[in-house]
Parts: sequence; structure tokens; C-alpha cells
Amino acid sequence: MIRPVCRMGNPILRMMSQKVSLEMIKSDDIAQLIVDMKDSMAHYGGIGIAAPQIGVSLQVCIIELEGLNRYGQEINLPFTVFINPTIQVISEDKKGYWEGCLSVPGLRGFVERPQHILVRYFDQNGAERELEAKGFLATVVQHELDHLFGKLYIDRLKDPALLTYQEEFEQFNLSNQVIE
Ligand code: ZN
Repeated sequence: MIRPVCRMGNPILRMMSQKVSLEMIKSDDIAQLIVDMKDSMAHYGGIGIAAPQIGVSLQVCIIELEGLNRYGQEINLPFTVFINPTIQVISEDKKGYWEGCLSVPGLRGFVERPQHILVRYFDQNGAERELEAKGFLATVVQHELDHLFGKLYIDRLKDPALLTYQEEFEQFNLSNQVIE
């Protein structure tokens, strides 16, 4: 079921989400939550969504990313569910991208994040998993995990001046600007 997305200002986006217990992972409630997240992500056109964005303060997020991103990098992560994820930064080397967020509609902001990480998490069957992510995928994973810990990308802007409306982003070709 498609659920409305909570927008910036909704306190749930600023809360630390609860971990999901192992028994609960296999419950019908979590299975339904994952279906609702997938439906909502597809409906609103996101590449990832976190449970707090549809009003559920639990440590669950999903990402589905296939094809080329607008930076010409090929990224392939089939539909993946991350439950109780933790991040280990493998390399502190950062790169920036113009991020957007379903909870901050109509805006884009330039954020730099580490580009090589290891994520440990449970999948929807309760199995322990690891994902090594590099480049743009590393950025997407960190963006989604931030939602589980009350953070939004606008907290991490490289510079407050690098926040723009989508229309101006396109009008002034900001994606082509080199930002040092
Ligand atoms: Zn987001």
C-alpha cells in the first residue's frame, strides 16, 4: 500500500529509530512494512526509502538502484532490505553529489560523504549480511541509513549555499559545476 511520505518538520524524521528484534523481522507486520515501503518508493520515484519516512520509527530501509546515474557511473543494486544496519568506513576519501530526498521535496543539496564503506545488516529473512559499497552507491546507502538515526542530508551540506530548488538546479546547470 502506498503511504504518504513524512516531510521535513515531522518530528519522526528527527528521532532515533528502534532496532527490530530478530523475532519481529519474520513477522507479518515487518513483511507488510517492507511491501508498503516498496510501493511508496515506486510511487514517488525514489531509489531508496527508510521506514521513518512513511511514519514507522524502526531501523528498516530499502534501496533499489539499477542502471546509470546522472554522473555516468553504472550502479547495480537489486532490491535490498537493510534491517538494523551499521556502517564501517573503509576509506575516508570523500566525494560530493547533489542529493535529493522524498522528505525534502523540490530541493537538491551538495553533500560530500566517504566513498568506500562496509554495511552490516539483517535481510528480510533475518540472515546477517554484508555489503561493500563504493562511489555513488556508498552515498545512497549513507543517505538512507541517516534517516534511521534522525539525520537529513541538509544537515550535511558542504556549504549552505549549495542548497537549491530542483528548477534552478536545472536552469543553471548546477550538476555540471565543479565544486571544490
Ligand atoms: Zn532521504
